[in-house]
Amino acid sequence: MNVLKKSDLHVHIWGCYYPEDLFNMARDYYRVIDWNRFDFLDRYEKAFGVRIDPVSVFEEAERTGSIDQIREIAVFSPQEAGSFDRFDVKTFFAVAITGYFIDTGRHELILEPLIKRHKEEGIEYIEYRYSFGSSIFDEWHIRFHEYFRDHDSNGFSPKGIIRLYDKGLDSYSQLRELMKARPDLLDTVVGVDFSGRETAPKHLKPFFSRLRADNTANPEQALDAVVHIGEVFYDKSLESAIRWCHETAELGAKRLGHCIALGIDPKVAIERSPDAHTQESVEERIDQLHYDLAYKQELQQLGLEIDERSVLKEINELRHQEPNEIVVNQYDDKRLREICLRQDFVLARLKELGTVIEVCPTSNIKIGGIPGMEHHPLRKFYASRVNMVICSDDPGVFDSSLSSEVATVAESIGIDSMELAEQLGDPQRFRLGIR
Ligand SMILES: [Zn+2]
Repeated sequence: MNVLKKSDLHVHIWGCYYPEDLFNMARDYYRVIDWNRFDFLDRYEKAFGVRIDPVSVFEEAERTGSIDQIREIAVFSPQEAGSFDRFDVKTFFAVAITGYFIDTGRHELILEPLIKRHKEEGIEYIEYRYSFGSSIFDEWHIRFHEYFRDHDSNGFSPKGIIRLYDKGLDSYSQLRELMKARPDLLDTVVGVDFSGRETAPKHLKPFFSRLRADNTANPEQALDAVVHIGEVFYDKSLESAIRWCHETAELGAKRLGHCIALGIDPKVAIERSPDAHTQESVEERIDQLHYDLAYKQELQQLGLEIDERSVLKEINELRHQEPNEIVVNQYDDKRLREICLRQDFVLARLKELGTVIEVCPTSNIKIGGIPGMEHHPLRKFYASRVNMVICSDDPGVFDSSLSSEVATVAESIGIDSMELAEQLGDPQRFRLGIR
């Protein structure tokens, strides 16, 4: 089998369930499940304008044998594309179901369907991303770890990447404490992740310093970090979105999720929505100007115009404003051309650093707001020779699979998937937790 279809390095547990899985998981419990857990029903109503009644949906499915209504709630359709919030709400359908299993202590009911499906797909190595609230953090990480450890056999190896919150330090400390008490967790927990709303790299600096120090002090217990970045960035200039990817790589993230900002045609990016990238905060603009000064030489060598005096003048003017005030961005042809050069610069730097981009094509179309595969940055990534892996992100919610993602990428580049595998190499060499 094609080596690209054997390893999935970017997949979220709660995005893995297909409508069939959700039906099977909840058919004996739907009457007692708290469907408004984490305000799922309220949030769904707000996002889609309808109040769903999961109990009658399941009754109907039992009666008719059709799970179409479950599919409608659970799967993120192309018509709904372009909104992270709408996507996020959909995943809470599964969260309501698994929440019931958490309350009743049935972790195997959460993990069994995933493992079964991924094994059947022919996946041999998979890094699942997940997290638990602080009150159940220790107990449930141990449960998942033990389940993964017990199911690591016959050519199937499940690992865990723990999602950290906010700036990372608190949840990371909790994880390290747990690992001190249970060093065997290192067999399955390979790294940590930042996902959801993107965090400015400057706020992740203290976390990465601590991680580096811990990894140096105890290399046999080292953890790697991965970060979702450059995925949804309408709220800032394209230059800032590119800088966030660059600075996150410089901090030491081993792999970066998505990085659409590093490859999307800037003209396409700004046309995605009327207010896309037209504004950012004063604080963000000042950070960008300091970045331009720091990388002045490299950017000038590529042909960008960086006039130090006017940059300093702008910084001085902005200093008198509140950090959260708004700066308006306007894009002309010259600026758009220069944005492409900035992308080239950062891709080359990622290549030097050995940073890996996790490409999740369907996710990028549906969440990232890329208007079609013909506009996906993967061809630019491929041409740049940056390290790249293909992943499925949330295959259940997107009704996709790792195999279909690999096929999509091969077709986009215009080669067959075996040749693609030869060019990209085995994704397993980029797995986390190689100690
Ligand atoms: Zn993701």
